[in-house]
Amino acid sequence: MRLRNKPGAMATIENSPQYILTDGSEWRGKWHERFEKQQPLHIEVGSGKGQFIVGMAKANPTINYIAIELQTNAIISILEKQLLEPLPNLQLLLVNGADLDDYFAEGEVDQIYLNFSDPWPKTRHEKRRLTHPNFLAIYEKIAKSEAELHFKTDNRGLFEYSLASLSQYGMLLQEVWLDLHASDFEDNVMTEYEEKFSQKGHPIYRLEAHFVTKK
Ligand code: SAH
Repeated sequence: MRLRNKPGAMATIENSPQYILTDGSEWRGKWHERFEKQQPLHIEVGSGKGQFIVGMAKANPTINYIAIELQTNAIISILEKQLLEPLPNLQLLLVNGADLDDYFAEGEVDQIYLNFSDPWPKTRHEKRRLTHPNFLAIYEKIAKSEAELHFKTDNRGLFEYSLASLSQYGMLLQEVWLDLHASDFEDNVMTEYEEKFSQKGHPIYRLEAHFVTKK
């Protein structure tokens, strides 16, 4: 189902080019120029309404963040937050994560976050999962060699798939949580979905992994 855009959403987006782009290809390799400070660049693919990335940008002013989201109706909520209380270290990009290498140069990104990505449980939709090897190859291309991938979900099937997919791809799992909220993990910034599903009693799964440098 295609959601209808909120009235005026595209106009708000077009009127805010300092915060949001609908085609970032001209900034490929020079995203740092869109930020006040030159500092590490972390991106989130599938930011939804942005509670996580806005919280992270507030908590970590020495890191630059880009929220990537393909739904206008979701990213407009992030833009509204940014217009109310602008954060100099947050930019928004309304594009499909499958095309990230059109928007980021090799090694431009220091860290990648995936939070509560769509599970796409049917095998025939496997390629749409954001931890499918095709996506991992794109992340590897745009990420620095020491970059980390951090992934949270309440979806057990997607988590199991992702553990296998990452390790078959040759990534190194550094740490895995099977119940994040019952762990001693500090400074967790909750996403919208994380609040919703943990309130329902779902455990939250989390992993941190990195690409093993090919020598
Ligand atoms: N991270 C948020 C939202 C999770 S829902 C949270 O945890 O609350 C998953 C989001 O990913 C949706 O908003 C969906 O539009 C977005 N998404 C799915 N596939 C994507 C892709 N290929 N590129 C960018 N965003 C994507």
